Amino acid sequence: MRRVLVKGAGVAGLTVAHELAARGASVTVAEIRSQIGGKASWLAGGMLAPWCERESAEEAVVTLGKTSAEWWDRTLPGVVTRAGTLVVAHARDALELARFATRTRDYEAVDEDAIAALEPDLAGRFRKGMFFAGEAHLDPRRVLEALAGKLRAMGVAFLFEAGEIAPSGFDQVIDCTGIAQAEDDLRGVRGEMLILRTREVSLARPVRLLHPRHPIYIVPRADHHVMVGATMIESDHSGPITARSLMELLNAAYALHPAFGEAEIVETGVGVRPAYPDNLPRVKRRKDGTITVNGLYRHGFLLSPAMAEQAAGLLFNSTTDLESDNEADRQRRSA
Ligand SMILES: Cc1cc2nc3c(=O)[nH]c(=O)nc-3n(C[C@H](O)[C@H](O)[C@H](O)COP(=O)(O)OP(=O)(O)OC[C@H]3O[C@@H](n4cnc5c(N)ncnc54)[C@H](O)[C@@H]3O)c2cc1C
Repeated sequence: MRRVLVKGAGVAGLTVAHELAARGASVTVAEIRSQIGGKASWLAGGMLAPWCERESAEEAVVTLGKTSAEWWDRTLPGVVTRAGTLVVAHARDALELARFATRTRDYEAVDEDAIAALEPDLAGRFRKGMFFAGEAHLDPRRVLEALAGKLRAMGVAFLFEAGEIAPSGFDQVIDCTGIAQAEDDLRGVRGEMLILRTREVSLARPVRLLHPRHPIYIVPRADHHVMVGATMIESDHSGPITARSLMELLNAAYALHPAFGEAEIVETGVGVRPAYPDNLPRVKRRKDGTITVNGLYRHGFLLSPAMAEQAAGLLFNSTTDLESDNEADRQRRSA
């Protein structure tokens, strides 16, 4: 039985641990913090939105991400909500909708009545929008905790507040430490978010409000909570949300529906997304033999199942040439 040490208990580490344990490996997950969460994965919106993301992402994000909702459904039945994504813009930002449409596919154009049918609380507020019926969402915190619980039941060991662990006790080390991983070409993209609570607006699915400078999305959570996200700032600074970002996110939420102005601010948060120069994730093998799974950027929940499967394929098929097995690289080369 292969003994594998997975460093990092974010979505990358936990999905990798799952795929390895499911293939019979003896897996230990070492997390530097005292519990699951707190870093990028904890702050995520949880949108599984490959077709919307195509607006600013490579085709590989669609190829690798389009079956991710099935993976999450299969792995943790009941955690995925399949209600699609609604994209709207105010009339003055109609060009933004047109631009979004040219860069995406697999949507249906919707008018005011269709928007009202999908999201009754947005009735009369938007004349045009786009509905991506094939997309889904999940609650990242619920999912990370449920996945950790499942892993424990599968026999995976967790070490919290883990310091340096001697690799000699393991056949393989897999580094899933996100932005903490010291690598030259990895950069941080700061994402600020809010959690609001209101009974005045209720959404059934993620809603994206397009805007030339401050596009936002709102993802419904249980118990009248919503997650409002997110800024995209080229920085690995993880300090508290700035006043400007807080104002912009709140303004945008208010522009989606004025009742958000009365919502309680339950939480503000900042996560640093780990990204490679082309914003696509990679499974790599370092010179010292460590496998790294990183660069999930805006797509941790969307793409970690595919990356975890690649990492497991690499480990269980040692003849696999990683470069040729890496779908993201293949896509890049053929582009
Ligand atoms: C505001 C925001 C919104 C987002 N929305 C979405 C979304 O809607 N959909 C989506 O798919 N993605 C989304 N993302 C992206 C997603 O959150 C990231 O891509 C993903 O969380 C990266 O996961 P990770 O496991 O690589 O890193 P992390 O979640 O940062 O996990 C790394 C873990 O490694 C631990 N660690 C660090 N150093 C060590 C060490 N030496 N030893 C052991 N452990 C260590 C850390 O404590 C941490 O727990 C969003 C991100 C942000 C910030």
